[in-house]
Amino acid sequence: MNESQLIHYLDSLPKQEPAWVKQMQHDAQKDHVPIMDIQGIALLQQLIRLYQPQKLLEIGTAIGYSALRMIEAKNNLEIVTIERDQAMYQRAMDHIVDQGRQAQIEVILGDALELAVETKTKGKFDMIFIDAAKGQYRRFFELYEGTLSKNGVIITDNVLFHGYVANPDGAPKRLRNMVKKIDAYNRWLLQHQGYDTVILPIGDGIAISIKRENDYIS
Ligand code: SAH
Ligand code: MG
Repeated sequence: MNESQLIHYLDSLPKQEPAWVKQMQHDAQKDHVPIMDIQGIALLQQLIRLYQPQKLLEIGTAIGYSALRMIEAKNNLEIVTIERDQAMYQRAMDHIVDQGRQAQIEVILGDALELAVETKTKGKFDMIFIDAAKGQYRRFFELYEGTLSKNGVIITDNVLFHGYVANPDGAPKRLRNMVKKIDAYNRWLLQHQGYDTVILPIGDGIAISIKRENDYIS
């Protein structure tokens, strides 16, 4: 059995998903919005159930799918999420209002590369979910890790990017630079002394980085 058969099997298992989830998945696929896939979001939800964060920062809202699904996993979770695209922002706001979650999810419209100072004023986050421009992952990590609470967790999506990160020569030319940047990020992250990181080949590749207890002494 190869890997795609395994994923196909897992995806095909029946699930009890509410109609709004199916609708958002359908809309995202139709409009080519790169939301987390079935296995990826299932892992993210399970991490939330295990870790029980009070406050979560998301970089890359898109249509609000992952934010709403994370709240599905923890009903009183508070989320601050950043999106730079006006149309995506609007769609996310509409979905959040539809689900009655506007008191819990604050969407900031703007470029996350420019919002770190403003975001700091919103308090500490127990979990940070990085899912925006793939070539900028290290910058997002370094800009926002200062907002992470003690023992916090940083989760990064798409770190294997369609398998291309493991096989850059197989990537379309236009993606090669970005794929190399993700590879550099993964290498940097795994050697980071402040975090213990594991990368799982689930969804599109998910890195889970747990902040070390004490600031390490070299
Ligand atoms: N987390 C979403 C998918 C996010 S797709 C989900 O799984 O449901 C990535 C999003 O990040 C896109 O909507 C894109 O507009 C946004 N983005 C990319 N670079 C960004 C940046 N520098 N600042 C804010 N948003 C950014
Ligand atoms: Mg993603």
